[in-house]
Amino acid sequence: MKFILSAFTEGIRIPVEGTYDAKTIEVEFPDMVYTEPLRLTGIAEKSCGTLRLQGTLTTAVRRFCGKCLKAKSEKLSCAFDWIFDLMGKDTIEPLENVRELLILEHPLVHLCKAGCKGLCPICGTDLNEAACNCKENDYHASPVIIKKEKPKKERHHGTS
Ligand SMILES: [Zn+2]
Ligand SMILES: [Zn+2]
Repeated sequence: MKFILSAFTEGIRIPVEGTYDAKTIEVEFPDMVYTEPLRLTGIAEKSCGTLRLQGTLTTAVRRFCGKCLKAKSEKLSCAFDWIFDLMGKDTIEPLENVRELLILEHPLVHLCKAGCKGLCPICGTDLNEAACNCKENDYHASPVIIKKEKPKKERHHGTS
């Protein structure tokens, strides 16, 4: 996806779209495999020496839970709002931004659900579905989870 700046008129918003192959741009993770191309749709506007690109990146992925290893296919959708400095440039290629967006979107440890109990490291039982007798040995260590910060949702201050 490349933007040729001479094709843009100052201050005119242009709908744009393009696709990337996740394999070619090397943004696959061991626990997150893309099952569809990365699709970018949005609006581009050249103004005051910058190109602003706003829109959404959508794709489909197959994710593996970091604790119970269960795989699940899901749609992925990330909004973006990028501003490129045009100084000395004839074209803009947002590849690095796409890569960065997906790396940020990818948590260090993905869990199938917040309270996933994972597999018993001794007998391999999926502890979400069944219990086993290994528990007293206290081997159920949890991986460290670093959550990415999400924008805080507005709370409703109601009386109900
Ligand atoms: Zn899980
Ligand atoms: Zn067990």
